[in-house]
Amino acid sequence: MEKIGVFGGTFDPIHYGHLRIAEEARDRFALSHVLFVPNQVSPFKVGETATTAALRAELVQVAIAGNPAFGLWAGELEREGPSYTVETLRALRIKFPVAALYFLTGTDAVRDIGKWRAPEECITLAQFIAFHRPGVTESEARFGVPDHLESGITFAQMNGLDISSTEIRERVRAGRSIRYLVPEGVIALIEEKKLYRVVE
Ligand code: ATP
Ligand code: MG
Repeated sequence: MEKIGVFGGTFDPIHYGHLRIAEEARDRFALSHVLFVPNQVSPFKVGETATTAALRAELVQVAIAGNPAFGLWAGELEREGPSYTVETLRALRIKFPVAALYFLTGTDAVRDIGKWRAPEECITLAQFIAFHRPGVTESEARFGVPDHLESGITFAQMNGLDISSTEIRERVRAGRSIRYLVPEGVIALIEEKKLYRVVE
């Protein structure tokens, strides 16, 4: 059966922490593809994200170019308002009726799954894989997950990369190097579009 990874995020900008967990997931779970799904607006970041969704998608596109196993799915950009994972997973279930879906997250994101819209439905639509992210241990993440959702989540250990988009934005604003934290093409696009220069 075809196995497809679904990786939602703000990707403001995409960095090697994201790319490594997508690659780990592909490799370990024998996924045929990983679809990156930039949100229109994260329900947890309403009013906070200045970079347009179209630009964040373009950053993803540049970062994954040349990897035939990685793709961009822009479905959330076509919907107005906050992007709910449950809606994305419903749409992908229709698009790929017989594939097994795997939703990828870091430990920090999955810890809050109890606050998502319809989390019970989310875990029936996709198997959740939570990768270790430096700063949030598996037990800390499990502590946040309501008991009835825990069976839908597989925790995956990895040597996590301690990189965040917040750190990248702060470095750009301060005029500091982001080389080797994000792909070269992402740096070029950040420079071309003059992103992250002013305080949001
Ligand atoms: P920000 O600092 O703006 O919140 P971020 O680096 O956390 O950005 P997001 O777009 O918020 O990136 O994250 C999308 C998904 O990727 C989430 O599930 C998050 O847990 C995961 N993720 C991001 N960075 C890492 C990392 N370094 N290691 C593991 N998972 C990560
Ligand atoms: Mg985040």
